[in-house]
Amino acid sequence: MRYPDRFPVIVIGGGHAGTEAALASARMGVETLLVTHNIETLGQMSCNPAIGGIGKGHLVKEIDALGGAMAHAADLGGIQFRILNARKGPAVRATRAQADRVRYKAAVRHMLENQPHLTLFQQAVDDLILDGERVVGVRTSGGIEFFGESVVLTAGTFLAGQIHVGLERSEGGRAGDPPAKKLADTLRSLDLGVARLKTGTPPRLDGRSLDFSVMQAQPGDTPTPVFSFLGSPEEHPRQVECFITHTNERTHEIIRGGLDRSPMFTGNIEGVGPRYCPSIEDKIHRFADKASHQIFVEPEGLDTHEVYPNGISTSLPFDVQLELVRSIRGFENAHITRPGYAIEYDFFDPRGLKPTLETRGIEGLFFAGQINGTTGYEEAAAQGLMAGANAAARVLDRDPLTFRRDQAYLGVLVDDLTTQGTLEPYRMFTSRAEYRLMLREDNADQRLTPIGRELGLVDERRWRAFNEKMEAIEAERGRLKDIWVHPGHPAADKLDGSISRNVTALDLLRRPELDYAKIAAVDELAPEAMPAPAVIEQLEIEAKYAGYIDRQRDEVARSVKQEEQPIPADIDYAEIPGLSNEVRDKLGQQRPATVGQAARIPGVTPAAVSLLLVHLKRRG
Ligand code: FAD
Repeated sequence: MRYPDRFPVIVIGGGHAGTEAALASARMGVETLLVTHNIETLGQMSCNPAIGGIGKGHLVKEIDALGGAMAHAADLGGIQFRILNARKGPAVRATRAQADRVRYKAAVRHMLENQPHLTLFQQAVDDLILDGERVVGVRTSGGIEFFGESVVLTAGTFLAGQIHVGLERSEGGRAGDPPAKKLADTLRSLDLGVARLKTGTPPRLDGRSLDFSVMQAQPGDTPTPVFSFLGSPEEHPRQVECFITHTNERTHEIIRGGLDRSPMFTGNIEGVGPRYCPSIEDKIHRFADKASHQIFVEPEGLDTHEVYPNGISTSLPFDVQLELVRSIRGFENAHITRPGYAIEYDFFDPRGLKPTLETRGIEGLFFAGQINGTTGYEEAAAQGLMAGANAAARVLDRDPLTFRRDQAYLGVLVDDLTTQGTLEPYRMFTSRAEYRLMLREDNADQRLTPIGRELGLVDERRWRAFNEKMEAIEAERGRLKDIWVHPGHPAADKLDGSISRNVTALDLLRRPELDYAKIAAVDELAPEAMPAPAVIEQLEIEAKYAGYIDRQRDEVARSVKQEEQPIPADIDYAEIPGLSNEVRDKLGQQRPATVGQAARIPGVTPAAVSLLLVHLKRRG
C-alpha cells in the first residue's frame, strides 16, 4: 500500500544516528518520518551504558550546541558524571556520564514523541524505492510504501548482522533484535562498497552476586558536571558510584585455554574489530606480557541490579565466560545475566559519501552512524544530526551543513571518513584533531550554535541563553580590561606586590599564578556580582591560552586557503602531468571536492598536491 501522506525526509533506524537525524530534520520544519524496527528500542544503548569520554564528549557538546538531543538525554539519564583529564589542558578535558539505560532511552523517546513535524512508525524497512539513481521512498516489511525526497539510512549493526558466542552463530542486529537482512541484500545490489566489521560486548552481571567491598570505589565528581548547555545538576537522577577491579594471571590462563573455541581466533569472524575497544581475548593475545587488565564495574541503572563490567568484552563460549568472570576479584560468585557476544555486520566504504553524508551513488540517500564504519553512540549521533540536517537542507534548497577540521570534531570525523575511509571501526580521539586547542568542549557553543541557528536547528530558548552568556563574557572582559593596576595600587599589594608596571586586570588573569577567584577576591578588582562559572571559565581559558590559540588561528588561516580551494567536478586527473598512476587512481576514485580533502587521501603526497595546484591555476 502507498501511505497517503508524503514525508520529504524519511529516516530509517531509531538508534543514536537515526534519532538525531530525525530530530534535526524536524527541527528545521520539514515533515519527517522515522521508521524503525521497534519503538520500544528508540535510543537504545547496544553496549556500554555511558555517554562521552575523551573525544566523544567533545562530539556530544557539539551535537548539543547544534540543538541535538544526546547531551540533554545524558543529563536526564546520567547517574554518575566525571570530567576526564580535569587536570590537563582544556583541549583534552572531557565530560563522561554513566547512564541509566532505561532513563536515557525514555528521555530520547520523550523528545522524539514531542518534536513537532516528526512522525514515528514501527516496522522494518526492507527496500529502497529508486527512480533511476535517485531515492524516492522506502518499502517496509509489511508492504507499506512511504514516499519522500531524502532518505537517511542509519541501520547500525543490523545489516546482515551475525552474532557469535564461541563457535555458535546466529542472526541478529544485536542480542534480542532481528537483523536487517532484506535491506542488506538490496544495498549489496547497489554497488556502494560493502565490507564487514565486528564489535563485541561483555557479559552483564547480577550486582547482588558481586562483592563490591573488595573493589575500589570510584565516585563521580563534585560539583556534578552537566552535559547540556541548557542543563543543570538538578535534572540528574540520584548519583551512584562505579567500582574498579582487575583481571589476573588465572583469568588470562582461562582465556588462553578457551582460544580454540573463540570465533575470533578460529577464523569464524572475518570482520575487523575496534582496535581501541578490543575484546579481553584480544588484549591478552596482543599484550601477552601484561599480568592484569583494569575492569570498570558500572551500574546499568538505578532500578536494576545488573552491572556492566567494562573491559572484558568477549565472544568466548559461555562456559569460558563464566569461568573467567569468576576468577576475578569480587566476581567469585558472579551470576551472568546476559552472555557477552561479538557481532559482525555490513558497513559501506565512507569514501562513497559526499561531505554532506549523501551517498555519491544514489541521489538523496544519506548514510549515518555505524553503517559508515564508525563505532560509538556519539560518533553515530553526530553523523545523524549532520545527515538529518542535510537531508532537510536538500528538501528546503538551503546550503548544506558541513564543517572544516578547524571548526568542529564533526568536521574532523566526516573529513576523515570521506577522504580516508576506514579499515576498522573508527572512533573519535582528540589526537585526530590538528586544531584541538580551538575545538574544546567548553567553546562548542561559540563555535556551532550560531551556525545551527542560521540553519534552523537551534530554538529560541537556546539562542537566548547563548546570547546572554556571550554578553556576560563580553561585559566582564570589558570590565577587567578597564581596570588599571599600577605599582603601589592597593590591589597590587594584595596580589603579592608583584606588579612592576601598569597592567589591566585582564592582563593579570594571564599570569599563571593568578586565577579569576584570586583576582575577584581583591575588593578593588571584584565584580558587583560573581559571573556564572561558564563565563569565568571562558575568560580564564582565553587569557591563559591566548598565545597558543592565536598561533593555531594563524595556522588555520594559512591552510584554509588551500583547504577550501575547490576542485571542479569534471576534472580529469589523467590530464595532470607528473602524477603517479597510484595517485591518479586514488583521486579519480574518491573525487575530492577540495584540495584540502585531496591532500588527506592516504598516498597523495605533498608533491602530488603541488602538481594539482599548478594544474588548477592553469585551468583558471
Ligand atoms: P544502532 O544503535 O545500532 O541503531 C540502529 C537502529 O536501526 C536500531 O534501532 C534498529 O532497530 C534500526 N534498524 C536497523 N535496520 C532497520 C531496518 N531495516 N528497518 C527499520 N529499522 C532498522 N560502541 C563503542 O563505542 N564501543 C563498544 O565497545 C561497542 N560495542 C558494541 C557491541 C555490540 C554487541 C554492539 C551491538 C554495538 C557496540 N557498539 C560499541 C556500537 C554502538 O552500539 C554503536 O556504535 C551505536 O549504537 C551506533 O548507532 P547507530 O545509530 O548507527 O546504530
